[in-house]
Amino acid sequence: MPKLPDARGHFGPYGGRYVAETLMPALIELEQVYRTCRRDPTFHRELRALQREYVGRPTPLTFAANLTRKLGGAKIYLKREDLCHTGAHKINNTIGQALLARRMGKSRLIAETGAGQHGVATATVAALFGFDCEVFMGSDDVVRQAPNVFRMRLLGAKLREVTSGTRTLKDAMNEALRDWITHVATTFYVIGTVAGPHPYPMLVRDFQAVIGREVRRQIARQEGRLPDYLVACVGGGSNAMGLFTAFLTDPAVRMIGVEAGGLGEGHNAASISGGSVGVLHGSKSYILQDETGQIRDTYSLAPGLDYPGVGPELSYLHDQRRVTYVTIADEQAVAGVKLLAETEGIIPALESAHAVAYAAILAPRLQPEQVIVLNLSGRGDKDLSVVARHMGLDEQSAGV
Ligand SMILES: *Cc1c(COP(=O)(O)O)cnc(C)c1O
Repeated sequence: MPKLPDARGHFGPYGGRYVAETLMPALIELEQVYRTCRRDPTFHRELRALQREYVGRPTPLTFAANLTRKLGGAKIYLKREDLCHTGAHKINNTIGQALLARRMGKSRLIAETGAGQHGVATATVAALFGFDCEVFMGSDDVVRQAPNVFRMRLLGAKLREVTSGTRTLKDAMNEALRDWITHVATTFYVIGTVAGPHPYPMLVRDFQAVIGREVRRQIARQEGRLPDYLVACVGGGSNAMGLFTAFLTDPAVRMIGVEAGGLGEGHNAASISGGSVGVLHGSKSYILQDETGQIRDTYSLAPGLDYPGVGPELSYLHDQRRVTYVTIADEQAVAGVKLLAETEGIIPALESAHAVAYAAILAPRLQPEQVIVLNLSGRGDKDLSVVARHMGLDEQSAGV
């Protein structure tokens, strides 16, 4: 497979730059700076030091012995992104983009966020590097995600409530792009997943690819072979691409992306399993849209999967049949949270629990000498009240 994207930012028919003319110079400048940094040993040294001493990398690859025994079948390993600073993989990317912003002499970071996880990861690196930070968030999400809103404020970020449209993520995305156009000289737009106009899908993938590189080394040491299956949940696709990238040229390693099946037909966020090709957030990919091209309302109990698109490279890997996509419903994901908590003493994020639930279906069908690596993209503290409510407990009696 050729190294993608091509010079114009395409992964096959996907990707590209579908943005206002006024943003083209900023995207071209970002691409040039990034290509220079990619070849610069000093940049990599700085990034590696931050990964080690601030993020807490390398994260462990934990053999889930109890879970494996309980399910009977393939061995299950957990890549522990839940142990990264801030509790998820998102900081791998925001720390890389913050380094780029500093190189470019910018003084201000902006980001858009739905669940607030990317907003928190951006506010965190803004505090660390001394940038001003403004986070765009739909006003409905501000109410739903109050703890993350408070975290961002504690970290010194300014919240920009967006009251237009459906008052959720896609409106916040539009508002952030508008702000960027107006303040492009001073401002760096931090995108949180492998989506957006070129070069974002490429650079977010590269910053997250540390996950799979570590897994390669770790599984060689622990098992002396490559894994048979990689399993990751897919919202926009950054933790999945982070795990998959280092293995794309190993045909024996199968890859499975787990999308949010939500409550079923019409109430989900499964952009590949149930979407069609279109343009969203500046690039072409599979998206959830109606017949007239309007973005459909999405739903998932897992806030980080509740996004109406998926990155262009994952769209391409779907068409190439390199990555297989499945869906897991809310109900199954909650069962996945309980399963991992009770067997391994690890409470996963609801997003990651989609991958756990699928691994629990897959493992018993395989042989005991086979190996599954599951990306545990985040920890579950943020979801306690949602899980409690879903189990029929009110928050008071659950004490969360
Ligand atoms: C944001 C998030 C996701 C989904 O985003 P991807 O870009 O698809 O990885 C998954 N898990 C956690 C814990 C998240 O915070």
